[in-house]
Amino acid sequence: MDFELTPRQKIFLKDVDNACKDIRCHEEQCYLEEKSNDQIVDRFGKIGMLGCPVSRDLGGLGYDILTYILAIERIGEEGSSLRTFFSAHTSIGQLVLQGWANDDQKKEYIPETTSGKKIMAFALTEPAAGSDPSSMVTSFEDAGDHYTISGKKHWIGNGTIAGTMTTYAKDKNDGKISAFIVDADSKGISRNEIKNKMGLSTVKNAEIRFEQCSVPKKNLLGQKGKGLTVAYSALIDGRLSVAAGAIGVMTDCLYECIRYSKARKQHGSVLAKKQLIQQHISNIAMSIESSRWLVYRAAAARQRLHDYVEDLKREHKDWLKELDKQNKQYIDLRNTADRLAAIAKLFASNSAFDSANRAVQVFGSAGYSKTNRAARHFLDSRATTIYEGTNEVLELKIAMQLLGEEYRAY
Ligand SMILES: Cc1cc2nc3c(=O)[nH]c(=O)nc-3n(C[C@H](O)[C@H](O)[C@H](O)COP(=O)(O)OP(=O)(O)OC[C@H]3O[C@@H](n4cnc5c(N)ncnc54)[C@H](O)[C@@H]3O)c2cc1C
Repeated sequence: MDFELTPRQKIFLKDVDNACKDIRCHEEQCYLEEKSNDQIVDRFGKIGMLGCPVSRDLGGLGYDILTYILAIERIGEEGSSLRTFFSAHTSIGQLVLQGWANDDQKKEYIPETTSGKKIMAFALTEPAAGSDPSSMVTSFEDAGDHYTISGKKHWIGNGTIAGTMTTYAKDKNDGKISAFIVDADSKGISRNEIKNKMGLSTVKNAEIRFEQCSVPKKNLLGQKGKGLTVAYSALIDGRLSVAAGAIGVMTDCLYECIRYSKARKQHGSVLAKKQLIQQHISNIAMSIESSRWLVYRAAAARQRLHDYVEDLKREHKDWLKELDKQNKQYIDLRNTADRLAAIAKLFASNSAFDSANRAVQVFGSAGYSKTNRAARHFLDSRATTIYEGTNEVLELKIAMQLLGEEYRAY
């Protein structure tokens, strides 16, 4: 694999770096005040980061998955809270539409998200259906020219600010799950912010209620009854973004440990001279390097899947039916991308939590305050082992792919 960046990619990543530096102070302040960072949309919108991997004809920059992932890695240095905003908006937001929407839906919904006029969210999880989305109770029924959706989703990232979301509901008739594009201000939707979170303070999570919410029939996303295929494909991108963000978290932890350990003196010399402090530093560095290659390899596999599906779309008007035909090449590409993204997320999120824990230790009492970067990474990275598939379920999923479906343990 060649990871050499083109001049255009380098310029873009420099833009991302500058935007991150510009919002750093405000992000820290917002974190402590537990409010949304109102500079993100404007500052990152200016450089096109609100639609980085979205095709140019839909208002995006048209970058490949790896470039997007490298941008997310840099954003992760500023904290998983900021990174989660982008994961929800782009990875499990726009990319779901880009992948599954028809041309009319794309034209109607994507450009207003790349411009930042509308932010996206992905509403799958329910109070009684987390690791097992197939047990969801949110339902829909055919009401003539529209569907009505009823139920409750929770923990939805960007949920309070999103203008457009995808959601998933069970057909009252046959129990099959379908995916929908929903305008967040539709009648019948109410949203409440989830308070008292452990961390991730600048990204807002919501409980979203659908009460006889009317959704036009044209907003069915993908094939009727195949909603979980849409949701699970979104989670490949979501996991990749979490894993990439985790590298950023570890990079910042490493930087902070080096900086602080060279400055802080105890027992007659700086901490950086102590072998046990050096052990923390080398462990974080090792985690960064090992995570990096898992993530980049998974991104390359995701790109191959993306390219294959885009070719299929060009060749077949009814490409959704083509995907259904037990197409071996597609299944292999999808399973590889799925497995590698799961491995990358599992490893990188555990490593980020461990690295943040080590970084807090290096800081001692100074690391036990939310004003400290390591402390915030510690609190925030805890969530990365839970969302986009808990790490337990990912372990089982990886094993199942290797052993065979008949060994599914979840
Ligand atoms: C900060 C945050 C942001 C989120 N953002 C979103 C979002 O934007 N959109 C969205 O739809 N959802 C979101 N979620 C929800 C998240 O995806 C779920 O929390 C996650 O899937 C786990 O579901 P659960 O919390 O119901 O836990 P449960 O499924 O109840 O699991 C509880 C524990 O049991 C374990 N477990 C479950 N089943 C098995 C099994 N078969 N074998 C072994 N162990 C098992 C789990 O690994 C976990 O440790 C978010 C959650 C958080 C915390």
